[in-house]
Amino acid sequence: TADGGAGPVKKRLGVMGGTFDPIHHGHLVAASEVASLFHLDEVVFVPTGQPWQKEHKLVSPAEDRYLMTVIATASNPQFSVSRIDIDRGGRTYTLDTLRDLRAEYGDVDLFFITGADALAQIFSWRDAQELFSMAHFIGVTRPGHTLSDPGIPNGGVSLVEVPALAISSTEIRDRVAQGEPVWYLVPDGVVRYINKRNLYRDAG
Ligand code: ATP
Ligand code: MG
Repeated sequence: TADGGAGPVKKRLGVMGGTFDPIHHGHLVAASEVASLFHLDEVVFVPTGQPWQKEHKLVSPAEDRYLMTVIATASNPQFSVSRIDIDRGGRTYTLDTLRDLRAEYGDVDLFFITGADALAQIFSWRDAQELFSMAHFIGVTRPGHTLSDPGIPNGGVSLVEVPALAISSTEIRDRVAQGEPVWYLVPDGVVRYINKRNLYRDAG
């Protein structure tokens, strides 16, 4: 395909990184809205790798987080899930994620989607300059957090408003631990998977 003589049209790939412990409708709405606004061809959800040792108990097993992400996204033809951060193992750095995705997908335009809270930490990320050269960053609104431009040069970040869903994975885990319902906060299949695997039963 060509775009009128200006060279081949690059695929536009959204990247939604997260722990997804569990994935919820806030993640899905954010990805869907950004895909629409930025005319993305695909959004790939990338569950983080399993942290080592002490951190380990704070996060559910990678396979459970991966499968819940697959269950939640399977019916959307634009959504996919990548195992790259899980298979690399250890703590996930966004630079590794973007490098590995580029190696896998080739010459695509990358759009890294992040909530207001995660965007606020952007300057604590290692190799910030290289990050912004590898992907366009899209900060999305999230209830309870202020979305502000972190000062990335050259228009490297866009701030967009997405439908406000005051949902967090932390709240889902707490609700399950207390025996409260999580129907309609996460997709039905994710509720069933949480029950099947007995996730989040222990308060903490
Ligand atoms: P936890 O409470 O365990 O931190 P979380 O709900 O923040 O979970 P993460 O997996 O940490 O979910 O988030 C992945 C990405 O999705 C982050 O960029 C985060 O800012 C964004 N995000 C999470 N929930 C929402 C939401 N309700 N609205 C918009 N963005 C969200
Ligand atoms: Mg979070």
